[in-house]
Amino acid sequence: MTRPLIATLGSHSALQILRGAHDEGFACAVVAPAGKDTLYRRYPFIDEVIAIPSYDAFEALEDDLIARQALLVPHGSFVAYLGETTNQTLRAGYYGSRAVLRWEGDRDLQREWLTAADVPMPAGFATADDIGAGDWPVIVKTFGAAGGQGYFLARSRGHLDDQLAALGHDRYTIQRYIVGVTLYVHYFRSIVHDRLEILSMDRRYETNVDGLGRLPWHVQQAVEPVPSYVVVGNSPLVLRESMLEEAYRMGERVVATASDLIDPRGFWGPFCLETIITPDLRFHVIEISCRIVAGTNLFVDGSPYAALWFDEPMSTGRRIAREVREAHAAGRLGDVVTGHVPSWDAFDRTSRTDHIDRIDEAAR
Ligand code: AMP
Ligand code: AMP
Repeated sequence: MTRPLIATLGSHSALQILRGAHDEGFACAVVAPAGKDTLYRRYPFIDEVIAIPSYDAFEALEDDLIARQALLVPHGSFVAYLGETTNQTLRAGYYGSRAVLRWEGDRDLQREWLTAADVPMPAGFATADDIGAGDWPVIVKTFGAAGGQGYFLARSRGHLDDQLAALGHDRYTIQRYIVGVTLYVHYFRSIVHDRLEILSMDRRYETNVDGLGRLPWHVQQAVEPVPSYVVVGNSPLVLRESMLEEAYRMGERVVATASDLIDPRGFWGPFCLETIITPDLRFHVIEISCRIVAGTNLFVDGSPYAALWFDEPMSTGRRIAREVREAHAAGRLGDVVTGHVPSWDAFDRTSRTDHIDRIDEAAR
């Protein structure tokens, strides 16, 4: 029996997505630019590695992916590497809402969405003149910056004006800088079960800002290090249980508001609220990511939160595949896929154990 095919781009959280697809009984393929393909050839659970000269060549594969009834599972690098327009116009089956892409990619629309959902955000300032005396320090986020690269911090009006002049363009937003603990909440909105799950949480490690505390104050004073926010990895964190209900409620409001504001079809699949928690135990949401985030890579084998929902190890990547499998079985694939809805026969799930046995057999 041929297994239905799930495909993704080779980067970000591809290994987790494909391992999850495999564990749920799908065949899986990764499309990777030359040079990045070698990583994916190492893993026996990946059925096919499609090497392309560069991401520009991706669209040329589309007809073939459609003919093969493949389903694309997007991740955080889809927009970075293919661009928002290509993501919107891809004809191949695509897991998730595409209407949210425009809202996610535009910081003003994001603020409109989160504000409508009554999600607390740090104060934003249209111009430097709007910043009040009690609002310093502020963080300046340049548009299109990926992974925190190109952000900067200003402690005073003079400091801000100097840095903005050096920047030389006006494509940025200014936010009040929140001093607290960063916590990224990984949600999954299931259409099949009509529920919101929290599957895991992480905090990012960003260089050099997460290293500054290792410098004694007198050294900091002498060298005046410039903080930067380039993400290099992620580490796990569990939240105080008393704050978990509010984490769920924020996520639920975000989902409900999307149906009113963005698309009557709603918003589903994995998403992340990036929060900073202050000493008064309040969340401040700095951003929403509308797809699987790379912090979920910590939990390929499940997490303390996923264990509250599932009796087996459940990563976000596997959760996507599970939802797709269940939607297909219920005749509801069209509810979770945008673009070409793949036509699949019924299929069996290959269990994790089967997979490990197969690898053992191959090794013998
Ligand atoms: P990469 O494929 O590693 O170059 O990542 C592509 C984009 O995904 C980066 O520009 C980041 O914005 C984002 N990204 C990658 N890894 C992470 C991570 N561990 N945490 C957060 N964002 C990430
Ligand atoms: P973002 O691209 O919005 O996810 O931000 C990248 C990183 O910049 C975050 O992980 C935080 O470390 C930092 N950051 C962004 N916005 C704020 C803020 N308002 N206050 C404090 N830190 C922030």
